Amino acid sequence: VSVSALLKSRIRTVRDWPKPGVNFRDATTLFHDPEAFRATIDAFAEDCAKQEIDIIAAVDARGFILGGALAYKLGKPFALVRKKGKLPYKTVSEDYHLEYGTAAVEIHADACKAGDRVLIVDDLIATGGTLLAATKLFRVLHGEVIGVAAVIDLPELGGSKRLRDVGLKVHALCE
Ligand code: 5GP
Repeated sequence: VSVSALLKSRIRTVRDWPKPGVNFRDATTLFHDPEAFRATIDAFAEDCAKQEIDIIAAVDARGFILGGALAYKLGKPFALVRKKGKLPYKTVSEDYHLEYGTAAVEIHADACKAGDRVLIVDDLIATGGTLLAATKLFRVLHGEVIGVAAVIDLPELGGSKRLRDVGLKVHALCE
């Protein structure tokens, strides 16, 4: 079976969560399956082999599970993109819009050096707002974000297109 089919079979859909009408794609069930988890990280590593990467970054919280494993596999430094107010040292912060209200993500001011080539990992791309905000953070530090990697892309929400439009390579393992 293809990686995409394997992963789809391991991702649980929770209907009407966090609110009525939303089908939440729950990757925790993928993490429960070591074979599927390993196939995910191996597929990311294979996709990324074609690009030169200095730093793997990932988004709070499911992104950390994926990005941490990928950084280990590739032997690369790992940088955290956290929700606002969690990081102890000097930070760079970026606000972004959610369907209702706003949110903010932060990185440490020394999360990358000027010219570092960064790949940002998260579990899912919906509107792309989270990964776009994360990209802006590294650009503030003059890092070069070369791409993003996610297990799931929801193309009908336009996020992956939005990310490609700002020059990012989008690696997504299933739709
Ligand atoms: P976006 O910023 O692209 O609109 O939403 C993506 C962010 O929200 C990601 O950090 C992701 O973890 C979370 N998210 C939004 N919808 C879902 C979903 O259906 N399943 C999961 N696992 N995360 C979601």
